[in-house]
Amino acid sequence: MSRAAMPSPQRLPALAPLPGERADAATPLISLRGIAKTYQRDGAPVPALRGVDVDIHAGELTAIMGRSGSGKSTLLHILGLLDAEYEGRYVFDGELVSGLSPDQLSRRRNRKIGFVFQQFHLLPQLTILENAALPALYAGGRPRQCRAAARARLEQMGLGHRLDHRPGELSIGQRQRAAIARALVNEPRLILADEPTGALDSATAMEILSLLRELHRGGATVVLVTHDPEVGGAAERIIHIRDGTTDDGVA
Ligand code: ADP
Ligand code: MG
Repeated sequence: MSRAAMPSPQRLPALAPLPGERADAATPLISLRGIAKTYQRDGAPVPALRGVDVDIHAGELTAIMGRSGSGKSTLLHILGLLDAEYEGRYVFDGELVSGLSPDQLSRRRNRKIGFVFQQFHLLPQLTILENAALPALYAGGRPRQCRAAARARLEQMGLGHRLDHRPGELSIGQRQRAAIARALVNEPRLILADEPTGALDSATAMEILSLLRELHRGGATVVLVTHDPEVGGAAERIIHIRDGTTDDGVA
């Protein structure tokens, strides 16, 4: 597809300051200390993270890079409050979240974190408007307001003319943009993306990458996992992970 044929996303307004915004800009949004995680497989321990220390500040665009099996997804799951079973200390948005129960984590996750996945994870039977509204509905919003928020985000992603389409009727790049709109619908403190360009051809990957960069310029905090050096190179900061440890730690 030529550049001209691609609907260009509208300029993104800066994200509004959120309630958790801290006066002290030096306080990291994310602070990990001594994070360790060991899976069990067939009764044998599989160490995935072995003591990760990382600080990430609000407004940063960070790439986590490393080989397959190095622990990237495990780390992203912990960052995203999807996993409660690990050792170490995690402070997110001014609150100690390591040690919280899965229920407590899921409430915070829903309000504060937006996820973008390699395979989009859009529900095929719903329109993209309905898909993008889901996190807002889960967070307890009124259906009308949730739909309005979803529409605004989809328009921002250049999909205003596709609201009533189902994912299967969209191009791959449009699907990923719909998934990004969904990730943004609750105005999250943090956007996490696991290989967001992994299922895309290189032109579409660059389109999605420039969207993430634009969100970042608008003030969003983005952490993405990638094994693609071109994608990693577009981030402000790269955290390299190898055998469950990071070389780039506390900023
Ligand atoms: P990456 O995302 O960098 O490919 P992962 O975080 O998925 O790495 O995996 C890190 C290590 O943990 C690997 O050795 C992997 O095989 C192992 N692992 C990941 N998930 C599980 C699981 N659910 N059960 C057992 N081992 C796992
Ligand atoms: Mg992975």
